[in-house]
Amino acid sequence: MYDYLIIGHGLAGAIISQRLLERGQKIMVLDQPDSNHSSVVAAGLFNPITGRKMFKTWNADSLFPEVIKFYPRLEQILGAKFFHPIGIYRPYAAIEDQNDWEAKRSDPKFNPYIDRTSTSRITSHKLNDPSGGLFLKQAGYVNIVKLLNANKKLLIDKGSYQEIMFYEKDLMFHKEHLSFGDLKFKKIIFCNGIMAQKSQWFSWLPFHPVKGEIMDIELDRRPETIYNRGVFILPFDDQSVRVGSTYQKNFENLEPTEAGENELKEKLSGLLNEAYTIKGSRAGIRPATKDRRPFIGKHPDNEHIYVFNGFGSKGVSLIPQCSKLLTAHLLDGAALDTEISISRYYSNYPTELKK
Ligand SMILES: Cc1cc2nc3c(=O)[nH]c(=O)nc-3n(C[C@H](O)[C@H](O)[C@H](O)COP(=O)(O)OP(=O)(O)OC[C@H]3O[C@@H](n4cnc5c(N)ncnc54)[C@H](O)[C@@H]3O)c2cc1C
Repeated sequence: MYDYLIIGHGLAGAIISQRLLERGQKIMVLDQPDSNHSSVVAAGLFNPITGRKMFKTWNADSLFPEVIKFYPRLEQILGAKFFHPIGIYRPYAAIEDQNDWEAKRSDPKFNPYIDRTSTSRITSHKLNDPSGGLFLKQAGYVNIVKLLNANKKLLIDKGSYQEIMFYEKDLMFHKEHLSFGDLKFKKIIFCNGIMAQKSQWFSWLPFHPVKGEIMDIELDRRPETIYNRGVFILPFDDQSVRVGSTYQKNFENLEPTEAGENELKEKLSGLLNEAYTIKGSRAGIRPATKDRRPFIGKHPDNEHIYVFNGFGSKGVSLIPQCSKLLTAHLLDGAALDTEISISRYYSNYPTELKK
């Protein structure tokens, strides 16, 4: 009998699987990688200061220390290198930003994330940065595909992974346990990304999926850090340079589009004044939510069914901390903060589905 059946081996399923193994739980992970797999497309950035107005990311002071602690530890456990805290260079949009960010350097709210500032152009690439910019720390990227491959190998070695599609209609309820085919387990955790929208258990949650496109380019020189304003330029460890991403709320399919590529080219022209060659594009759908906060917790009607989802465009920074909180909730009875718990939407649960 398994303690937990985990549906989905994207970043969410992989990391919660590790947290539960660490606590001595017996788990089985089921994944059907042919469906949309946001984690495989993602650039993997983690960035404490984001957006046009350069706001501090929600909950940064608790999320980012966990990012810095968690991924290197996971690298040790999995014997693989995927964590790259290479920093981010964010060119100023206007000369006034120089004074503004010079002041913020000594502000304890921003200080942990500022490596240094520059009041003149950097020289490694021809960027549109006439007023200089800000170098961010506790920032970089995770090679999610490498992490997933290493985690999958460890799970297979432990007999805790099966590459199959999970069908909800085949989930059976017994007096003391649940079952799916031959698998018997006490609880099930859905980490199925946007597929949760089609779930009989969680489709009532307000998901707002957002398609994203990324392109690979070739530059004469590879950057040493990530450049980011409007668009990011990321020197990935497979030698490619990634540029992204688009945010499309209305979309018809999972494929990269000409419109997406044109949008990235347009945004890139605002940051980079150098020639480049486009090598390819990819697209995926982010499991984003209406209020931009994760969906975590117990189904309103069934104490054996859980969801760990809704990480939107920030899975890399959210999942380490959120997986820690869910594990403490499951195994130690710790309460989940209402900002991340699906209890904030229990009133949306359709009455006709109630027991
Ligand atoms: C273009 C793009 C760029 C992004 N860039 C970043 C970034 O820079 N930084 C960042 O933090 N985040 C980024 N993201 C978001 C990031 O990808 C997500 O936050 C995160 O990967 C979500 O992980 P997940 O495990 O919840 O979902 P997913 O990765 O979608 O995983 C869900 C898994 O469940 C499986 N599954 C679903 N249903 C079933 C079933 N019935 N049976 C078996 N298996 C099933 C799927 O096949 C999949 O493997 C980006 C996303 C996109 C699309």
